Amino acid sequence: MSNERPLLLIISSPSGAGKTTLTARLLAEVKGLTFSISHTTRKPRANETNGKEYHFVSRDEFEQLIAADSFLEWAEVHGNLYGTSKAEIARRRGDRGIVFDIDHQGARQIKCAAPDAVAVFILPPSMAVLEQRLRGRASEDEQTVQRRFNAAKREIEHYGLFDYVLVNEELEDATRKLISIFLAEECRRSRVAALAEQFLAEGRKAPTTDSTHPESSTR
Ligand code: ADP
Ligand code: 5GP
Repeated sequence: MSNERPLLLIISSPSGAGKTTLTARLLAEVKGLTFSISHTTRKPRANETNGKEYHFVSRDEFEQLIAADSFLEWAEVHGNLYGTSKAEIARRRGDRGIVFDIDHQGARQIKCAAPDAVAVFILPPSMAVLEQRLRGRASEDEQTVQRRFNAAKREIEHYGLFDYVLVNEELEDATRKLISIFLAEECRRSRVAALAEQFLAEGRKAPTTDSTHPESSTR
């Protein structure tokens, strides 16, 4: 079913809690759900490709995009600029849903622009596990790990902005919960109301054929 208004699913967490891992699993399981590729001034990690995880741009390029009002939201995170371009959303218009891996500042801006966006916050089972996961990723130096770990505590202060809070302890279990959130949100009455109203309008045009209703019998 083509969708003029895809379900917007925001996923945030302190760095290292597992949102990239969980998002990849969600996208692999739910057909028609796509990932919003942000712009960033951060340097690509060894396993990242330009245009896949991010559009990697220089600070100058990013600032030009800000000046041209090209972003739906943008923010400075860990000393780099990150943003969701309006063009990225426009080209996903027919999709079932769009997943945003963004921080709390971006989540707030998207919730403001689209109040029916669904925001999920991922927590680690403990701060000690978070630190282990940050180190285990082995994609950053010690200074970066420390900076991100300290920033994690500040990120958690914003959990109250989110509709759901998911503890990522066991990966299978957390994946199932995230998929369940998306599927349940698809059934939210406000999202399906237009379809129900369409059926009602059709029913008003055509005579009812309900044989259990005395007035509809053809005597
Ligand atoms: P984030 O995107 O939130 O920064 P990642 O998805 O990169 O976090 O996860 C950080 C590290 O933790 C990665 O090495 C990932 O494989 C690992 N990880 C994620 N979820 C779990 C989990 N439930 N159990 C064990 N390790 C996990
Ligand atoms: P990373 O450098 O680990 O990929 O991401 C660092 C942080 O930036 C994460 O919290 C991630 O969610 C956030 N981020 C990524 N893209 C965007 C974006 O487009 N906008 C905002 N506001 N944050 C983003």
